[in-house]
Amino acid sequence: MKQVGDDIFKIFDGDSGKMNSLLGRSAYEYLHSTIADPLLRQVLSGAFVRMELRESLPLYVFAQINNSFIQSAWKLDGGGDQIAHRMVDSITSMGGTVCTNARVTSLIAENGKVSEVEVNGSETLRADWVISDAHPAVTLELISDGLRKVYKERISALDNTFGVFTANICLKPEVPACPDGNIFIHREGIDLWHSDPSVTESVMVYFYPETHGGVTHLDLMSPMPFSMVKGESYEQAKCAKLRECLKLVRQRLPWLEDSIESAYTSTPLTYSRYTVTPQGSAFGIRHNWETPLRTVLSPRTPLANLLFTGQSLNLHGLLGVSMTSVLTCREILGRDFTVHR
Ligand SMILES: Cc1cc2nc3c(=O)[nH]c(=O)nc-3n(C[C@H](O)[C@H](O)[C@H](O)COP(=O)(O)OP(=O)(O)OC[C@H]3O[C@@H](n4cnc5c(N)ncnc54)[C@H](O)[C@@H]3O)c2cc1C
Repeated sequence: MKQVGDDIFKIFDGDSGKMNSLLGRSAYEYLHSTIADPLLRQVLSGAFVRMELRESLPLYVFAQINNSFIQSAWKLDGGGDQIAHRMVDSITSMGGTVCTNARVTSLIAENGKVSEVEVNGSETLRADWVISDAHPAVTLELISDGLRKVYKERISALDNTFGVFTANICLKPEVPACPDGNIFIHREGIDLWHSDPSVTESVMVYFYPETHGGVTHLDLMSPMPFSMVKGESYEQAKCAKLRECLKLVRQRLPWLEDSIESAYTSTPLTYSRYTVTPQGSAFGIRHNWETPLRTVLSPRTPLANLLFTGQSLNLHGLLGVSMTSVLTCREILGRDFTVHR
């Protein structure tokens, strides 16, 4: 796992034999053929709310995510939004403009290229290159013309990973000291590789490293399928899920239920609205070691100046999308483009 984690850029370097052997290798099979102790296998699989454990999971996803977690439960001092702020500063310092509240409503294609990007149904922009980190199926739906139907259908038919429920909890003052790290709590005897996301069997507890405005926060996160958040009973489904999460967490943090000041919840429906991922999927397209050529996507699209980037291409998370952005940049800047770490 350490080797895969440390060699992340080499593995996606194109034609290496190493890459092919990892993309086409099962994490489940690897775990069972190399580790005899079932408890150690469970421990290594226990952080699974960070990826979706299924027998189809390729080894490289499992190894990358675990390698990063074995090193530490990384957190950014001062909050994750610093990344967005730094990126905006960097773009503006180079003469770029960042537009918010700007929904791309159409990508107009002509002669095999995107000729115009329509924003909010009115404004149009022209660009030499167009890069999209929206889900690939969502991006392709925006293209008015010039794409073969079979390509669009192939991408939109790919399965997506599970969605998640999250509860951001503000704690009352004078709560017990919170641990410095994440806790993964699972139902006793759970089979982590064949669990049912419609049943609350696993919860991750994320403790914020510092107080915000004098308030201590924590997040609960648990898999939740999209089918559970449709219809009139949405509010009930959210309350029921929160209760189930708290019940599971009770054994490890018995003080939690009585220490809640307020709770803000989100579901796959929230993510489908805000990040526009199909069914509110948490990690985008589900990769499958048996069909790597179908489920690991290239940044290139059939339109010459339209590139994909983001979690659905090959690996999710901060680590995965950073790596994928380098691969996307290479399509424009050439293969010699690298980032010095
Ligand atoms: C609850 C949760 C917790 C997570 N926690 C972690 C974590 O602790 N660490 C970690 O590394 N990863 C975490 N992840 C995973 C990580 O957030 C994702 O892998 C990553 O954000 C994906 O980045 P992306 O750029 O591919 O897509 P996104 O971050 O989803 O960005 C896509 C953007 O495209 C926008 N968009 C879509 N359609 C349009 C349109 N038509 N016009 C304009 N904009 C559009 C969306 O609004 C969205 O902002 C978590 C994910 C979830 C759901």
